[in-house]
Formats: sequence, C-alpha cells, structure tokens
Amino acid sequence: MSTAANTREPERTAARRFFVETWGCQMNERDSQRLTGALMEEGLLPTREPAEADVILLNSCSVREKAEQKVYSRLGRYRRLKSDRPGLVIGLCGCVAQEAGERALSRVPDLDFVLGPGRVAEIREALERRRKGERPVLTGFPAERDYAFDSISRESSFKGMVTIVEGCDKNCTFCIVPQTRGPERSRGMAEILDEVRHLVDFGFSEIELLGQTVNHWRQPGGEEDFADLLNAVARTPGVARLRFVTSYPRDFTDRMVEQFGRHPNICPALHLPVQSGSDPVLQRMGRGYSADAYRELARRLKATRPGVALSTDIIVGFPGETEEDFALTLQLLEELEFAQVFAFTYSPRPGTAAPRLGGDVEPEEAAERLQRLFALQEPIQRRLNEALVGEHVEVVVTGLGKRPGMLTGRTSCHRVVHFEPDPSLVSGLGSSTVPLKAGRLTSVVVRQAYAHSLLAEPIARVA
Ligand code: SF4
Repeated sequence: MSTAANTREPERTAARRFFVETWGCQMNERDSQRLTGALMEEGLLPTREPAEADVILLNSCSVREKAEQKVYSRLGRYRRLKSDRPGLVIGLCGCVAQEAGERALSRVPDLDFVLGPGRVAEIREALERRRKGERPVLTGFPAERDYAFDSISRESSFKGMVTIVEGCDKNCTFCIVPQTRGPERSRGMAEILDEVRHLVDFGFSEIELLGQTVNHWRQPGGEEDFADLLNAVARTPGVARLRFVTSYPRDFTDRMVEQFGRHPNICPALHLPVQSGSDPVLQRMGRGYSADAYRELARRLKATRPGVALSTDIIVGFPGETEEDFALTLQLLEELEFAQVFAFTYSPRPGTAAPRLGGDVEPEEAAERLQRLFALQEPIQRRLNEALVGEHVEVVVTGLGKRPGMLTGRTSCHRVVHFEPDPSLVSGLGSSTVPLKAGRLTSVVVRQAYAHSLLAEPIARVA
C-alpha cells in the first residue's frame, strides 16, 4: 500500500563534481588518472568546467620556472570561483605541491590542501581532513606505496600507462625531480605484470611503461633488470604495442638494446634525452656520459632496429655553454637526425646545483640559440617524414582530427597522422561523422609530409 511519503517525487540532489587539471610529464598524467579514479570511487563525477566543480585539483609541474608561475596564476583564478561556490575545495597536487609544502598555503590563502606526488593515494584523507576544518599538507615519500591499479581511471581506452620506477637518484645539476619525486624506487615485476595483464583483459592494446629513468628498473631484492622486464612485458599475450619512457642513456645496456631489437611489438620509437652535444656541458650537467658514448648508443639502436625514430631533449644556454659548445649540439642533431627534439632554454630551479656553477648565458642569447636549433631541426624532421610518403603505415586512432571529417592517429614510431577515415571506421549519422572507437588499428598510405605530422589516406581496416 502506498503512502503519501513514498508516492512523492524523490528529491533530486545534484551530483558533486570534480575537475582535475594536469601539467607536465606522463608521470603526472598517470597520477591524475589515480586521483580521478579515487574521486569517482567517492561518488564524484568529472566535469570539464572548473566553474561547476565542487573539488578542483591542480596537478602541477615544477620542471621549469615558467610552468610553476603559471600554476600559481591558475590557482589565483580558481580561488575566485569560491565567491560563487563557497563549498568549493581546491587542492594543489604534483611537484609544486611537494616543493612548496606549507609555503603554498600562505601564498594562496584559499588553498584547501597540498598533496605531493608521493602521497597521491591519500587524496581521500586530504579531503576528509579538510572537511574537519584542517588545511592538510601531505608531502614526502612513504616507504610503502599503494598503486591500487584497478581503481585508476584511464583516460585513453587503448593506451595503459604503467609506472615501473618512481623518483630518481641521478641528481643531474639542473633537475628538480629528485626533490619533487624523491628517491628512486622500482616496483616488483610480479605486480607490474599483473597490471599489464589487467589492462590487456580490459581491452588495452598499447602499454606504456613509465619512469623518470625507466631503464634503470631493477627487481627489488632480485637480479632482474629492465632487459628482463621488457622481455616479460613484450611476451605478455595481447600487448600489441609496447613503449617505455624516459630512458637514461648511461643505463642502456647491450641486453636492453638486444631486447629492443627482438620484439616486433616494442614500438620502433625511443625517447633518449641527450641534453647537449658538448662534453664539458654534459659534465657540468652531471650526466655521466660523453657525446660520443651517446652517438655510439644511437648507432647501436639504429642498427638493431632499422627505421627507429629517436627523439631527444636539449637544454640550450646551460650555465657556461659557449658558442662552441652550442655548435657541437647542432652538429650532433645534424648527425643523428632525430625524429623529434624537445628543446628549451635553461631554467634555474631552486635547490639544484646548476645555478651555482656560474657562467650564466644571457636570456636573449639562449633564446636566439634556441631559434637556431629549431631552424636546423625542422627541415631534418620534414625530410625524415617525406621519406614515408607513399608508404603503408599502421596507425592507432587517437581521436578526431582538427578538420571536420578527419581523424588523428599515431604510427608505431609515434608520428602524428591526420587522415580521412575508412568508412568502416565511422558511423555516419546524418551529416555528422562519429569515430567508432579510439584505439582501433587501421592502415593508411602516407600522401603528404610536414615537419610535425603526416597526411594520409586509408587503405583498409586491419583490426
Ligand atoms: S635523470 Fe637527471 S634529468 Fe632525469 S629525472 Fe633524474 S635528475 Fe632529472
């Protein structure tokens, strides 16, 4: 029998929403996926609009000074939203959180909590303590870490990122990462393989192993190194594409080169930061290898995996860099023909050794060198891409293209491809074209090459 009470319309309460903004590297992307997963388990829903969020998390990067300034200016913008949404909770996460700690609370009066990258698993505790009136600061690097990989909200439906090493012990003189991400720690192989199998079971075809120095992975308390792990992951049934980032040149052994050449599902693309082509500069950076040792490694990788697309990072205007040093960097780029170069002018970071080295390069001089570097590199990339015109390449669909009706994908060597989709890849609804699924593999033929992308036509759907 119904009563007045149970025939009444149920009261609708708006779902609480959260917004996560991510800056910086893949490690941060992956941390944001963990934060997202935890908030969704708490019943909050994601939104793309900060103005409609009840919780805003800014997952920050402090590798460059500019990125850090932008984080604070963004926090300033978010705190103004509090006048319309008094219950809004704003948390600073990521590397700026670890580095600034309490200071961030004084600098941003409406900031509700600070959560460092080593404490991502404690997001619920941070929110709970805030509810009780605290402004908690959770930083540092607990010995025991909780990876809880089954509650990560993966953004992509096909690429699963798997952390294998956290932190870094290298202490390159320009780098703040050892302070913000703590000492190096490898995860155990069994747990890594569990996560890989879990991803494959859920339909992920591409696995990306992550670490600040990914190839320095060691089995905790055991003998195995990254060559063994690479072999084990590559042999896991269902792993169609395997990537790993970021490799440290000095840690790349012959066994790793051999594994890199052995498994066709390991993508023929490798990011190998060189930072400079000058030995004196490499020495002042504390990198522990010479330009010739790097050349030799690149040569072995290219010989083992013909067609491999090497990419690199360069710092221009490092303290003490002379015009001769810079010329050696340009020479290295010309010789090795990188498929992609991520180059920046040097940015001094607090707590690092490089600002004390002396020999500062004037910012205008560094900016001018950077422009010269790009002017040299662009034609190299275009030339390498032009060699692919007429080739059949396999791409994984990553999303909609910039122009209507186009899709975007990545080749196995990580080049961006824009293409009009095979009709079997889309479902046409009236005039709109909707991609069936990101993550699908398709074959295309390259028709045009630019410095940063390829234009292609479909051949046929292959998977
Ligand atoms: S290897 Fe050097 S540049 Fe890379 S994260 Fe460690 S300290 Fe930074």
